[in-house]
Amino acid sequence: MKLIFVGPQGSGKGTQAKKISEELMLVHISTGDLLRDAEGELKEKVEECINQGKLVSDELIVKILKERLSEKDCEKGFILDGFPRNLAQAEELEKITTIDKVIEILISDEESVRRLSGRLNCKDCGALFNSVTDKPQEEGKCDKCGSELYQRDDDEEDAIRERLKIYHSETEPILEKYDSVKIDGEQSIEKVNQDILDVLG
Ligand code: AMP
Repeated sequence: MKLIFVGPQGSGKGTQAKKISEELMLVHISTGDLLRDAEGELKEKVEECINQGKLVSDELIVKILKERLSEKDCEKGFILDGFPRNLAQAEELEKITTIDKVIEILISDEESVRRLSGRLNCKDCGALFNSVTDKPQEEGKCDKCGSELYQRDDDEEDAIRERLKIYHSETEPILEKYDSVKIDGEQSIEKVNQDILDVLG
């Protein structure tokens, strides 16, 4: 199964992509994570863009994605999280592979800002928490591995608003291209997870 998860920042798309990929034994490909994990020259190139909430160039992200999709583990199926982000990327993707389903997770802009300003990431294992909606048991510490939690620079309010603006103007138009399934993202993590599983059933 080859899936795309689309949704505004804070819709829970990353959390759900991670969960569903484990449940259905698919590979979770987050282009944001691929970029954040970049090293050396590439890291310098993308860091400023990411921190300001801007998109990196289509050329660069398509190249990175193509490389990742050509790895053996992707043969069993995957979930794309964060790609495509605009029409040009969607067209490039069509040349690389065919997609079975597009899941669109919906939340309002206000909810997005509320959730993202509380988002906490683990420095080591990448687990996600939220000081508003999904608190860690001990403040500032990851429940899973005990490492320190931090807030991403692009989760500061100005960067969030910039990212939402780009989402509405550049990412939403790609949905006209796909017959996407809409899921209400303003429900509990478990309910959203179940709704997605039902659709994929
Ligand atoms: P995300 O973790 O999906 O919110 O992505 C974090 C940042 O990585 C974005 O704000 C962009 O700067 C960059 N990024 C991730 N995916 C893409 C993409 N498909 N095209 C361009 N930039 C991307």
